[in-house]
Amino acid sequence: MKDCSQLQAKDQFLPVKSPPKLTQGDTIVLKWKHGKQAVLMLCFDDSAPTHLDYTIPALTHRRITGTFYINPGNGPYRSRQKEWDSAASAPGIVLANHTYSHIGGMTEKEFEREIALANNELDRIYPTLPKNRLRSWGRPGVPDEQWGISEPQINRILKRHLMIERPPFQGPPFTMNGLEEMEAFIGKLLQDNEAKPLVFHGVAGDWHSVSLNDFLSLLDYVEERRDQLWLTDPLTWHCYKTERESARVVLLDSHSDQIRLSLICDEDTNLYHEPLTLMTGLPEFWQDVYVWQDGHPLYLEKMDGCVLYDAVPGGGDVILSNQRQND
Ligand SMILES: [Zn+2]
Repeated sequence: MKDCSQLQAKDQFLPVKSPPKLTQGDTIVLKWKHGKQAVLMLCFDDSAPTHLDYTIPALTHRRITGTFYINPGNGPYRSRQKEWDSAASAPGIVLANHTYSHIGGMTEKEFEREIALANNELDRIYPTLPKNRLRSWGRPGVPDEQWGISEPQINRILKRHLMIERPPFQGPPFTMNGLEEMEAFIGKLLQDNEAKPLVFHGVAGDWHSVSLNDFLSLLDYVEERRDQLWLTDPLTWHCYKTERESARVVLLDSHSDQIRLSLICDEDTNLYHEPLTLMTGLPEFWQDVYVWQDGHPLYLEKMDGCVLYDAVPGGGDVILSNQRQND
Protein backbone atom coordinates (compact mmCIF):
# COMPACT_ATOMS: atom_id res chain seq x y z
CA MET A 1 0.00 0.00 0.00
CA LYS A 2 1.53 3.28 -1.02
CA ASP A 3 -1.21 5.79 -1.31
CA CYS A 4 -2.38 7.89 1.61
CA SER A 5 -5.80 8.17 -0.02
CA GLN A 6 -6.31 4.45 0.50
CA LEU A 7 -6.63 5.18 4.19
CA GLN A 8 -9.94 6.85 3.47
CA ALA A 9 -13.40 5.60 2.81
CA LYS A 10 -14.56 5.76 -0.81
CA ASP A 11 -16.68 8.75 -1.66
CA GLN A 12 -19.39 9.29 -4.28
CA PHE A 13 -19.18 11.57 -7.30
CA LEU A 14 -21.19 14.75 -7.08
CA PRO A 15 -23.77 14.69 -9.88
CA VAL A 16 -22.88 17.65 -12.10
CA LYS A 17 -26.17 19.43 -12.73
CA SER A 18 -25.18 21.13 -15.96
CA PRO A 19 -21.92 19.60 -17.24
CA PRO A 20 -19.99 21.67 -19.77
CA LYS A 21 -20.49 20.61 -23.40
CA LEU A 22 -17.53 18.37 -24.18
CA THR A 23 -17.06 16.89 -27.62
CA GLN A 24 -15.83 13.31 -27.98
CA GLY A 25 -12.49 12.89 -26.22
CA ASP A 26 -12.39 16.40 -24.75
CA THR A 27 -11.24 16.05 -21.15
CA ILE A 28 -11.05 18.39 -18.19
CA VAL A 29 -9.53 17.89 -14.73
CA LEU A 30 -12.02 18.81 -12.01
CA LYS A 31 -10.96 21.34 -9.36
CA TRP A 32 -11.76 19.00 -6.45
CA LYS A 33 -12.08 15.26 -6.24
CA HIS A 34 -15.33 13.77 -7.55
CA GLY A 35 -16.55 17.20 -8.59
CA LYS A 36 -17.10 18.34 -5.01
CA GLN A 37 -17.76 21.99 -4.39
CA ALA A 38 -15.28 22.53 -1.53
CA VAL A 39 -12.76 20.69 0.62
CA LEU A 40 -13.02 20.32 4.40
CA MET A 41 -10.12 18.83 6.34
CA LEU A 42 -11.11 18.05 9.94
CA CYS A 43 -7.99 17.97 12.11
CA PHE A 44 -7.38 17.18 15.79
CA ASP A 45 -4.20 18.22 17.55
CA ASP A 46 -2.05 17.10 20.50
CA SER A 47 -3.27 13.47 20.87
CA ALA A 48 -5.84 14.69 23.39
CA PRO A 49 -7.48 11.81 25.34
CA THR A 50 -10.98 13.00 24.39
CA HIS A 51 -10.10 12.24 20.74
CA LEU A 52 -10.03 8.55 21.64
CA ASP A 53 -13.08 8.84 23.91
CA TYR A 54 -15.44 10.84 21.70
CA THR A 55 -14.01 12.14 18.45
CA ILE A 56 -12.78 9.00 16.71
CA PRO A 57 -15.92 6.94 17.49
CA ALA A 58 -18.13 9.82 16.24
CA LEU A 59 -16.14 10.20 13.01
CA THR A 60 -15.90 6.50 12.19
CA HIS A 61 -19.60 6.04 12.91
CA ARG A 62 -20.34 8.67 10.25
CA ARG A 63 -17.47 7.64 7.92
CA ILE A 64 -16.00 11.15 8.06
CA THR A 65 -12.24 11.58 7.57
CA GLY A 66 -10.24 13.06 10.45
CA THR A 67 -6.50 13.70 10.73
CA PHE A 68 -4.95 13.42 14.19
CA TYR A 69 -1.70 15.34 14.66
CA ILE A 70 0.01 13.41 17.44
CA ASN A 71 2.86 14.08 19.87
CA PRO A 72 4.21 10.58 20.51
CA GLY A 73 6.68 11.77 23.16
CA ASN A 74 4.04 13.27 25.46
CA GLY A 75 2.07 11.73 28.33
CA PRO A 76 -1.44 11.84 26.79
CA TYR A 77 -0.22 9.78 23.84
CA ARG A 78 2.09 7.43 25.70
CA SER A 79 -0.47 6.49 28.35
CA ARG A 80 -2.90 5.33 25.64
CA GLN A 81 -0.54 4.24 22.88
CA LYS A 82 -2.29 0.91 22.24
CA GLU A 83 -5.59 2.69 21.67
CA TRP A 84 -3.90 5.04 19.20
CA ASP A 85 -2.52 1.97 17.42
CA SER A 86 -5.99 0.55 16.90
CA ALA A 87 -7.50 3.96 16.06
CA ALA A 88 -4.96 4.27 13.23
CA SER A 89 -6.54 1.38 11.35
CA ALA A 90 -10.12 2.70 11.63
CA PRO A 91 -11.59 3.80 8.28
CA GLY A 92 -11.00 7.48 7.56
CA ILE A 93 -8.69 8.03 10.56
CA VAL A 94 -5.24 9.35 9.65
CA LEU A 95 -2.41 9.95 12.15
CA ALA A 96 0.17 12.63 11.34
CA ASN A 97 3.19 14.50 12.73
CA HIS A 98 2.73 17.36 15.24
CA THR A 99 6.38 17.03 16.45
CA TYR A 100 7.50 14.48 19.03
CA SER A 101 6.93 16.55 22.16
CA HIS A 102 5.13 19.73 21.04
CA ILE A 103 8.06 22.05 21.32
CA GLY A 104 9.42 24.37 18.65
CA GLY A 105 13.17 24.07 18.21
CA MET A 106 15.94 26.19 19.67
CA THR A 107 18.46 24.63 17.26
CA GLU A 108 18.21 22.87 13.89
CA LYS A 109 19.32 19.68 15.58
CA GLU A 110 16.56 19.85 18.17
CA PHE A 111 13.84 20.56 15.59
CA GLU A 112 15.05 17.81 13.28
CA ARG A 113 15.00 15.35 16.16
CA GLU A 114 11.40 16.35 16.96
CA ILE A 115 10.38 15.67 13.36
CA ALA A 116 12.33 12.42 12.97
CA LEU A 117 11.20 10.83 16.25
CA ALA A 118 7.52 11.51 15.46
CA ASN A 119 8.08 10.05 11.96
CA ASN A 120 9.63 6.92 13.50
CA GLU A 121 6.50 6.39 15.56
CA LEU A 122 4.29 6.88 12.47
CA ASP A 123 6.43 4.33 10.59
CA ARG A 124 5.83 1.87 13.41
CA ILE A 125 2.07 2.55 13.20
CA TYR A 126 1.97 2.28 9.37
CA PRO A 127 4.56 -0.45 8.64
CA THR A 128 3.37 -1.04 5.06
CA LEU A 129 3.78 2.57 3.91
CA PRO A 130 7.10 3.33 2.19
CA LYS A 131 9.54 5.33 4.31
CA ASN A 132 10.23 7.56 1.32
CA ARG A 133 6.84 9.27 1.20
CA LEU A 134 5.30 12.69 1.67
CA ARG A 135 4.15 13.26 5.23
CA SER A 136 1.72 15.70 6.76
CA TRP A 137 2.95 18.14 9.41
CA GLY A 138 0.87 20.31 11.71
CA ARG A 139 2.94 23.12 13.24
CA PRO A 140 2.61 23.12 17.04
CA GLY A 141 1.27 26.35 18.52
CA VAL A 142 4.15 27.42 20.78
CA PRO A 143 5.31 30.89 21.88
CA ASP A 144 7.86 32.63 19.67
CA GLU A 145 10.54 32.29 22.33
CA GLN A 146 10.46 28.50 21.86
CA TRP A 147 11.74 28.94 18.31
CA GLY A 148 15.46 29.59 18.08
CA ILE A 149 15.68 28.94 14.34
CA SER A 150 14.44 30.92 11.36
CA GLU A 151 11.63 30.11 8.95
CA PRO A 152 14.12 29.19 6.15
CA GLN A 153 15.88 26.81 8.58
CA ILE A 154 12.54 25.21 9.53
CA ASN A 155 11.57 24.85 5.88
CA ARG A 156 14.90 23.28 4.94
CA ILE A 157 14.43 20.57 7.56
CA LEU A 158 10.79 20.01 6.58
CA LYS A 159 11.87 19.59 2.96
CA ARG A 160 14.60 17.10 3.88
CA HIS A 161 11.99 14.90 5.58
CA LEU A 162 9.39 15.36 2.79
CA MET A 163 7.07 17.09 5.26
CA ILE A 164 4.10 18.98 3.83
CA GLU A 165 2.83 21.69 6.15
CA ARG A 166 -0.89 21.85 6.78
CA PRO A 167 -2.60 25.06 5.53
CA PRO A 168 -2.88 27.91 8.09
CA PHE A 169 -4.67 27.15 11.34
CA GLN A 170 -8.44 27.70 11.52
CA GLY A 171 -10.40 26.45 14.47
CA PRO A 172 -12.15 26.99 17.79
CA PRO A 173 -11.64 28.69 20.20
CA PHE A 174 -8.92 30.69 18.41
CA THR A 175 -10.37 31.85 15.09
CA MET A 176 -14.06 31.03 15.72
CA ASN A 177 -16.38 30.18 18.58
CA GLY A 178 -19.48 28.04 18.94
CA LEU A 179 -21.52 25.95 16.54
CA GLU A 180 -22.95 28.84 14.55
CA GLU A 181 -19.52 30.22 13.63
CA MET A 182 -18.19 26.78 12.70
CA GLU A 183 -21.19 26.21 10.42
CA ALA A 184 -20.73 29.65 8.88
CA PHE A 185 -17.08 28.76 8.19
CA ILE A 186 -18.13 25.67 6.23
CA GLY A 187 -20.91 27.60 4.48
CA LYS A 188 -18.33 30.12 3.27
CA LEU A 189 -16.03 27.34 2.07
CA LEU A 190 -18.86 26.00 -0.09
CA GLN A 191 -19.68 29.44 -1.38
CA ASP A 192 -16.04 30.12 -2.34
CA ASN A 193 -15.24 26.58 -3.66
CA GLU A 194 -12.26 26.61 -1.33
CA ALA A 195 -10.22 24.14 0.75
CA LYS A 196 -9.45 24.67 4.44
CA PRO A 197 -8.65 22.73 7.60
CA LEU A 198 -10.86 23.01 10.68
CA VAL A 199 -8.66 22.19 13.65
CA PHE A 200 -9.85 21.04 17.06
CA HIS A 201 -8.11 20.37 20.34
CA GLY A 202 -10.18 18.86 23.15
CA VAL A 203 -13.75 17.75 22.52
CA ALA A 204 -15.89 17.65 25.69
CA GLY A 205 -12.82 18.11 27.90
CA ASP A 206 -9.02 18.44 27.80
CA TRP A 207 -7.77 21.81 26.52
CA HIS A 208 -9.10 24.56 24.15
CA SER A 209 -12.22 22.46 24.17
CA VAL A 210 -15.52 22.53 22.29
CA SER A 211 -18.64 20.97 23.80
CA LEU A 212 -19.68 17.49 22.74
CA ASN A 213 -23.04 18.86 21.72
CA ASP A 214 -21.50 21.47 19.38
CA PHE A 215 -19.10 18.91 17.94
CA LEU A 216 -21.76 16.29 17.20
CA SER A 217 -24.11 18.92 15.78
CA LEU A 218 -21.30 20.10 13.52
CA LEU A 219 -20.75 16.54 12.27
CA ASP A 220 -24.48 16.34 11.50
CA TYR A 221 -24.16 19.60 9.55
CA VAL A 222 -21.17 18.19 7.63
CA GLU A 223 -22.96 14.91 6.97
CA GLU A 224 -25.94 16.74 5.48
CA ARG A 225 -23.55 18.41 3.01
CA ARG A 226 -21.28 15.48 2.27
CA ASP A 227 -22.40 15.31 -1.36
CA GLN A 228 -20.93 18.82 -1.82
CA LEU A 229 -17.89 18.52 0.48
CA TRP A 230 -14.73 16.58 -0.19
CA LEU A 231 -13.88 15.38 3.33
CA THR A 232 -10.21 14.52 3.24
CA ASP A 233 -6.86 14.89 4.99
CA PRO A 234 -4.39 17.74 4.32
CA LEU A 235 -1.83 15.53 2.57
CA THR A 236 -4.31 14.04 0.09
CA TRP A 237 -5.63 17.54 -0.63
CA HIS A 238 -2.07 18.81 -1.17
CA CYS A 239 -1.30 15.97 -3.60
CA TYR A 240 -4.52 16.49 -5.58
CA LYS A 241 -4.04 20.25 -5.85
CA THR A 242 -0.33 20.05 -6.73
CA GLU A 243 -0.85 17.40 -9.41
CA ARG A 244 -3.86 19.20 -10.85
CA GLU A 245 -1.93 22.44 -11.23
CA SER A 246 0.44 20.90 -13.76
CA ALA A 247 -1.84 18.16 -15.17
CA ARG A 248 -2.20 17.77 -18.93
CA VAL A 249 -4.40 15.37 -20.87
CA VAL A 250 -3.14 14.17 -24.25
CA LEU A 251 -5.73 12.65 -26.58
CA LEU A 252 -3.99 9.71 -28.25
CA ASP A 253 -6.86 8.14 -30.24
CA SER A 254 -10.54 8.82 -30.71
CA HIS A 255 -12.68 6.29 -32.61
CA SER A 256 -16.38 5.44 -32.63
CA ASP A 257 -15.90 2.61 -30.12
CA GLN A 258 -12.83 3.71 -28.17
CA ILE A 259 -11.07 6.81 -26.82
CA ARG A 260 -7.48 6.59 -25.59
CA LEU A 261 -5.73 9.31 -23.63
CA SER A 262 -2.81 9.96 -21.38
CA LEU A 263 -2.78 12.00 -18.13
CA ILE A 264 0.53 13.51 -17.08
CA CYS A 265 1.80 16.05 -14.55
CA ASP A 266 5.17 17.57 -13.65
CA GLU A 267 5.49 16.02 -10.18
CA ASP A 268 7.60 13.02 -9.16
CA THR A 269 5.08 10.19 -9.50
CA ASN A 270 6.90 8.15 -6.84
CA LEU A 271 5.66 10.74 -4.34
CA TYR A 272 2.59 12.12 -6.08
CA HIS A 273 0.11 9.43 -7.12
CA GLU A 274 -3.25 10.73 -5.94
CA PRO A 275 -5.96 10.00 -8.54
CA LEU A 276 -7.42 13.10 -10.22
CA THR A 277 -11.05 13.27 -11.26
CA LEU A 278 -11.42 13.71 -15.02
CA MET A 279 -14.47 14.45 -17.13
CA THR A 280 -14.39 13.22 -20.71
CA GLY A 281 -16.91 13.89 -23.49
CA LEU A 282 -18.44 10.77 -25.10
CA PRO A 283 -20.00 10.01 -28.50
CA GLU A 284 -23.75 10.62 -28.26
CA PHE A 285 -24.69 7.08 -29.24
CA TRP A 286 -22.73 5.34 -26.45
CA GLN A 287 -25.23 3.59 -24.16
CA ASP A 288 -22.60 2.32 -21.74
CA VAL A 289 -19.08 3.35 -20.87
CA TYR A 290 -16.18 1.44 -19.35
CA VAL A 291 -12.88 3.03 -18.37
CA TRP A 292 -9.52 1.39 -17.67
CA GLN A 293 -6.10 2.67 -16.79
CA ASP A 294 -3.14 0.39 -17.32
CA GLY A 295 -5.59 -2.53 -17.70
CA HIS A 296 -7.44 -1.84 -14.42
CA PRO A 297 -11.12 -0.84 -14.44
CA LEU A 298 -11.71 2.64 -12.97
CA TYR A 299 -14.42 3.85 -10.65
CA LEU A 300 -16.75 6.02 -12.74
CA GLU A 301 -20.05 7.84 -13.03
CA LYS A 302 -21.74 8.34 -16.42
CA MET A 303 -23.58 11.59 -16.91
CA ASP A 304 -25.30 13.32 -19.77
CA GLY A 305 -22.83 13.15 -22.68
CA CYS A 306 -19.77 12.60 -20.50
CA VAL A 307 -18.17 10.40 -17.86
CA LEU A 308 -16.42 11.23 -14.58
CA TYR A 309 -13.66 8.94 -13.34
CA ASP A 310 -10.48 8.93 -11.25
CA ALA A 311 -7.14 8.40 -12.98
CA VAL A 312 -3.56 8.61 -11.73
CA PRO A 313 -1.14 10.97 -13.51
CA GLY A 314 1.61 8.95 -15.18
CA GLY A 315 -0.31 5.76 -14.39
CA GLY A 316 -0.49 4.47 -17.97
CA ASP A 317 -2.90 5.06 -20.85
CA VAL A 318 -6.56 5.59 -20.06
CA ILE A 319 -8.99 3.74 -22.34
CA LEU A 320 -12.68 4.55 -22.57
CA SER A 321 -14.98 2.23 -24.51
CA ASN A 322 -18.66 1.48 -24.95
CA GLN A 323 -17.85 -2.24 -24.68
CA ARG A 324 -16.32 -4.32 -21.93
CA GLN A 325 -12.68 -5.16 -22.46
CA ASN A 326 -12.08 -8.87 -22.96
CA ASP A 327 -8.35 -9.08 -22.32
ZN1 LIG B 1 -0.72 21.48 19.27
